[in-house]
Amino acid sequence: MRNLNNLELWFVTGSQHLYGPEALAQVAANSKEVAAELDHSTSIPAKVVFKTVGETPEAIRSICSEANNAESCIGLIIWCHTFSPAKMWIGGLSILNKPFLHLHTQFHRDLPWHTIDMDYMNLHQAAHGDREFGFMCTRMRLERKVVVGHWKDPEVHARIGAWTRAAKGWHALQGAKMCRIGDNMREVSVTEGDKVAAEARFGYTVNGYGVGDVVEFVNSQSDSDINSLCEKYVDEYNVVPSLLKGGDRHDSLREGARIELGLRAFLAEKGASGFTTTFEDLHGLRQLPGLSVQRLMSDGYGFGAEGDWKTAALVYLMKVMDGDLEGGTSFMEDYTYHLHPEGHKVLGSHMLEICPSIASAKPSLEIHPLGIGGKEDPVRLVFDVAAGPAINAVIVDLGNRFRLVVNDVDGVDPDEPLPKLPVARAVWKPQPDFKISAASWIYSGGSHHPVFSKALNGEVMEDFASISGIEFLHIDQDSTVSEVRKELRNNEVYYHANKGFSFAG
Ligand code: MN
Repeated sequence: MRNLNNLELWFVTGSQHLYGPEALAQVAANSKEVAAELDHSTSIPAKVVFKTVGETPEAIRSICSEANNAESCIGLIIWCHTFSPAKMWIGGLSILNKPFLHLHTQFHRDLPWHTIDMDYMNLHQAAHGDREFGFMCTRMRLERKVVVGHWKDPEVHARIGAWTRAAKGWHALQGAKMCRIGDNMREVSVTEGDKVAAEARFGYTVNGYGVGDVVEFVNSQSDSDINSLCEKYVDEYNVVPSLLKGGDRHDSLREGARIELGLRAFLAEKGASGFTTTFEDLHGLRQLPGLSVQRLMSDGYGFGAEGDWKTAALVYLMKVMDGDLEGGTSFMEDYTYHLHPEGHKVLGSHMLEICPSIASAKPSLEIHPLGIGGKEDPVRLVFDVAAGPAINAVIVDLGNRFRLVVNDVDGVDPDEPLPKLPVARAVWKPQPDFKISAASWIYSGGSHHPVFSKALNGEVMEDFASISGIEFLHIDQDSTVSEVRKELRNNEVYYHANKGFSFAG
């Protein structure tokens, strides 16, 4: 996986020569103070570095070009402290290929009612400087996030923070590698997609590997490494007695550890950030990878079952975006329903592969038969997921474009314990209610493989969709089926015609 430390947002201020050196020095000093405030904000998970006051078309083009080529730069925050004639920005914005956020703020929060004069007015005119800049962005049909408010306002920091997460995710996807191990579950449609289009749109690659490529790594693991990993399992989880040393299934635990070590070594050698498996293609593996997949996800790897590479990439992306937030993110599957008239609920789970980052308590490490795939019983972590707000997200390949669907959900505790269910599980009530949510999701083409996150919200996801230029559909507390259907129909036209909306006329 890529090193995502030391990423920077570049703070660029718009102005012009007209104001004279004294005013421009003040603009630069004020900009440095604003950038430092954002840099210190705990809501913004990247360094914010003041770069320059752009006063000429040449300077603006130059800083945009520099940003394009700076590996550490994940995006620009742009603010026009004074008026900045926006024809100066055409050249720079035309070549800029990093995401940008337009911060519409003002240095002084309050009007100095008793002392204000024309000098003050000339220095503090973001009110119209930013509108001039905004016109040019709109005229050029540029995707960006506009955040409005005083730069010390915590709400402003939160809006910038959400976008920073999306910019970080976008940065992480560029050049990221997804390994599709063993291709797709046969005849399944929704886990397929256009890998060329995905690389062109999102920047990650998907390449196929035979399961034998992984088996070579699995079979070359040493007994001592396997033993130490088994000891680690005992430290981290409640391991059932039969799997412990001396227990009658201990060999299965060792096999699980061997698979984990092999998969890790394989992914490290490929430089991969995510992977898929399929239970229909396990030649040479004695178990369907369960525990190993759970632990790799927990370490930040993307994963999709049954060859679902779009979801593997989305899990990786969302894990980068959730970063240091509380909550966790996991591959998930809408498994089965509780359709009681007093509260419809969804039970989400998978055969094995749910990430322990969303576990409510120390997971239990167990072994049970798997009625599919014809392999030995796989070891897996079993746990519940704590109640609380969450989202489900999915990427749909519509053939001519990608759509990101997000549904706000409320995680709830199971009505009763689930003693016979041998897998990790989450229970949730979708917003605005089960019927509207499921109908909207189905009309949108969303798969049964959502990514479930207790850490992220719709804003981060929408910001990512905007940065990557894909369609975004949010099913939230205000959604109705007829409005969602209308939006889907309108989007068909908009995204088809969008390529023709050239800014140059
Ligand atoms: Mn599945």
